[in-house]
Amino acid sequence: MIQYSLHCSKGHRYDAWFKNAAAFDEQQARGIVTCAVCGDGAIEKAPMAPAVARTDSEKVSLSSSHPDALKFRELLRAYRQKVTSEADYVGDRFADEARKIHFEEVEARGIYGEATRDEVAGLIEEGVEFMPLPDLPEEHN
Ligand SMILES: [Zn+2]
Repeated sequence: MIQYSLHCSKGHRYDAWFKNAAAFDEQQARGIVTCAVCGDGAIEKAPMAPAVARTDSEKVSLSSSHPDALKFRELLRAYRQKVTSEADYVGDRFADEARKIHFEEVEARGIYGEATRDEVAGLIEEGVEFMPLPDLPEEHN
């Protein structure tokens, strides 16, 4: 599993998981990597991919100075609110439910929940479509 920070031709940035670097290249070449914000298909890897800490001591790259950062955070917040208000929360059954929907064993519906990294890898392997639910830090106003 590899996490890339991606950006589209309109400058939207978001993070996405891929099975490996080759999987990203292959999906990008087929034009099926699209912007999480606007759906644009002209996606490129951001030059500096922000890392996500996997352990308590691991460092992460953060920024606060970009003038558009607040705007995009609001978009992500709105997206998260829309998902969490309209989709069914399935908790740690997410991988099972997403798989059932993908293979049309149940009626298609919006769901959200949690999955382990192994489960995420399995879903990608099987071609099940999903995207990370943005996890936003609380406001400090
Ligand atoms: Zn975009």
